[in-house]
Amino acid sequence: MSAPNGFARHTRPELARLFRALNLDVTYRAGEGDYLTLEHPTDPDGTTSGERVLDLVGGAGASLFGHNHPTLVDVARRSLDERLPFNAQGSVRPWAGELAERLSAMVGASTGASYVVTFGSTGADAVEGAVKHASVEHSRGLGALREEFEQTLRKLRRDGVDDVPCADGPARGRPCGDVVAEAIACVTELAKAEPIFVSLKDSFHGKTSAAGALTHGANVPKDLHVHGPKRIRLHDWTPRSVVSALDPLRVRLDTVTVDAAGVPRSTARHISPVAACFVEPIQGEAGVREVPTATLAALRELADRHDAALVFDEIQCGMGRTGTFLASEPSGVVADYYLLSKSLGGGMVKISALLVAENRYIAEFGRHHTSTFADDDLSARVALAGLDLAVRYQDRITAVGTELRERLTEVAQRWPEAIVEVRGRGLLLGVEFTLPKPGSALLKQVFDAETLGFLIAGRMLHRHRVRVIPTLSATKTLRVQPSALLESADIDQIVAAFDDAASLLAKGDYATLLDH
Ligand code: PMP
Repeated sequence: MSAPNGFARHTRPELARLFRALNLDVTYRAGEGDYLTLEHPTDPDGTTSGERVLDLVGGAGASLFGHNHPTLVDVARRSLDERLPFNAQGSVRPWAGELAERLSAMVGASTGASYVVTFGSTGADAVEGAVKHASVEHSRGLGALREEFEQTLRKLRRDGVDDVPCADGPARGRPCGDVVAEAIACVTELAKAEPIFVSLKDSFHGKTSAAGALTHGANVPKDLHVHGPKRIRLHDWTPRSVVSALDPLRVRLDTVTVDAAGVPRSTARHISPVAACFVEPIQGEAGVREVPTATLAALRELADRHDAALVFDEIQCGMGRTGTFLASEPSGVVADYYLLSKSLGGGMVKISALLVAENRYIAEFGRHHTSTFADDDLSARVALAGLDLAVRYQDRITAVGTELRERLTEVAQRWPEAIVEVRGRGLLLGVEFTLPKPGSALLKQVFDAETLGFLIAGRMLHRHRVRVIPTLSATKTLRVQPSALLESADIDQIVAAFDDAASLLAKGDYATLLDH
């Protein structure tokens, strides 16, 4: 097997070059719990045991139960031994059904709603599904409104009262038939426009076309972005500005109702091109930043103001990683759609879920939005076991996460010149470093915002056998996303690694930091 050449030439040439430059071009041969086993270049056949590395990256939050958790391995192995079919399209999929029911109940336990679940294979799949479902919901909503107005107009004409002026309201004095005809024209015009999707500054929702349009930056060159759906980014998170941010997009129209005495009366209402607002309750790739409860509540209000769907992307922060099944749970804010992936399949099988509140679900969506590997029973069965683990480890995640955060905060307090702060909840933590200002011109070039996190990662990997990488768009923040199995001795190892890197940066000892 010529893995290095295959990787460097035939799959990720640019990344391979970068890893080599940063001394991060290592290979792992096995993973168990929080540890990965290094494959030594001198030991390509793996005949002697390699050194173990404590993994704080774990698929950017996918390894909540560690690598190859025995329960998940056992379920997968049993499924294979039983020859469980995974290509059984056009049939009733029992495990997918059970998983959907269970997810609906688990999310419903805090939201009070019931859900219809669309499965996919990746996080971006779930985001694409949400964009599509919200578009259909939006256009059908406008279609239903138009039909309602057309019915009203037909009735007014049939009863010969369409010339009667509105008795009150904003269109008072105007022939009621004209008012309704104008409303129909207004809805028709808006229905022709592209629906608009909203996401927050610095958000990350994936890299496929629609998901990529919602994602903010993530250090991607402009020309590597393709046009997805129309999107508006909210830069100001203050609740008052969130609620009114898109007011200029609302279109006002007047509607007419005829009262029991046959008198036409007018009222004002608004329609909007906004189809959905996406938010990660805790932004993972933006450096582990919690969206304040008041901002989540304001987004709820914003979505309602535009008859749009509110989508909580809990792909990274959900599944129990923060100590509650949904990271948004403590806020009390309820969304219309929820997205899960990553740890849903225990980080082992590729599965994602889009949960849509049952009362908004478009019945035909599940018939037409399909994918070869969606609903496969192997993934669903492993994910069901993952849900059991999420329940089993919930208290442990909170306890271990609190201890880890406290210990890292102590490090930050010891080296305030090097560490800005420690953020996050449960086992979704981020440590933000300060960009050093070395005197030498050469070192200034080495330590830029893009490389700092990787340089620290190199030191931690080679000197402490701790694996970290920066979050995607906030590259001075190192992600700390271990599994629920983390032990006290592991925490000591993590603290020692961060303490060492922070002390070198604080003392300006860049040579030692780079020497590994
Ligand atoms: N949403 C969030 C919040 C994520 O963190 C990610 C992945 N980092 C995605 C969506 C995309 O998931 P995937 O990489 O599986 O497409």
